[in-house]
Amino acid sequence: MDLSIIVPLLNEAESIPELYAWISRVMTENKFSYEVIFVDDGSTDGSWDIIEGLRADNPEIVKGIKFRRNYGKSPALFCGFDMAQGDIVVTMDADLQDSPEEVPEMVRMIREDGFDLVSGWKKKRYDGKLSKNIPSKIYNWTARKVTGLSLHDMNCGLKAYRRDVVKNIEVYGEMHRYIPFLAKNAGFSKIGEKVVHHQARKYGTTKFGLDRFVNGYLDLMSLWFLNRFGKQPMHFFGLWGSVMFVLCFIAIIVIGATKLYAITHGIRATLITNNPYFYLALTGMIMGTLMFLVGFLAELVSRSSQNRNDYKIEKELK
Ligand code: UDP
Ligand code: MG
Repeated sequence: MDLSIIVPLLNEAESIPELYAWISRVMTENKFSYEVIFVDDGSTDGSWDIIEGLRADNPEIVKGIKFRRNYGKSPALFCGFDMAQGDIVVTMDADLQDSPEEVPEMVRMIREDGFDLVSGWKKKRYDGKLSKNIPSKIYNWTARKVTGLSLHDMNCGLKAYRRDVVKNIEVYGEMHRYIPFLAKNAGFSKIGEKVVHHQARKYGTTKFGLDRFVNGYLDLMSLWFLNRFGKQPMHFFGLWGSVMFVLCFIAIIVIGATKLYAITHGIRATLITNNPYFYLALTGMIMGTLMFLVGFLAELVSRSSQNRNDYKIEKELK
């Protein structure tokens, strides 16, 4: 099978029939063999009935997964990735904002130009709200700096992947925003982007609020940390814990020595316990020690983690 198209959806009943018709038109025009996997992320508006209807009419093409409750877009993608059988896997939002017409070119980029992942770039956005566009620009700028990927629109719902990519990454929590980074960390380095058309939402409303930016930043920091120090947390906590401890220890020695010098030379000096730097240095020593201990704990946690030896093997000769 050429293509698996995965559509995560939450309460998008009005859009689904139109989206499906559009996808099938483009796929037939381009002679792709394909499947469409609808992942219903706990909709309560009858989306699933529509998916069942489509399945009854196109049993070869339409597949579906229905969650018992709403888990989020990442879990929906995770289950879709698991089911996908196509050589190339495409993800697309259900709200008709992403255009299936972009798919053939993305597929070409993977097949001919050798990309592992092609991410959409909504160069001109039609979300209509500045509250979305400006934070999104800042957010993408930070994401570029942290991930080292030069993508303009990391979180675009429209993406195409070589099958290996989706079978080797694990999207969880709200990590769908950083799939290109996950792919990069799994060793897929050819990551490209393609400018895509974006439409205003035709039906329904957006499912994400402004908290997306707060959560997005926190997730970005976690990913950065996990990637850098996940397998050896002591290299982070140990280093900075020691640095802090040693600096503050030296500070305390200096404070003590100054005092001793003053006493032995008959100079009037304030009590050490009246010196604010003494307290700062003391706190620093305690914090440094704690950081060091956190490093040990983190090592224990990562040692007992099930995927501590989870390497992505590309080829084997036995
Ligand atoms: N979605 C989902 N589960 C959720 C939230 C959203 O499956 O918990 C789907 C949603 O139905 C849509 C896609 O994810 O197909 C993108 O969501 P939305 O259009 O609301 O995001 P926006 O375009 O505003 O960024
Ligand atoms: Mg949308």
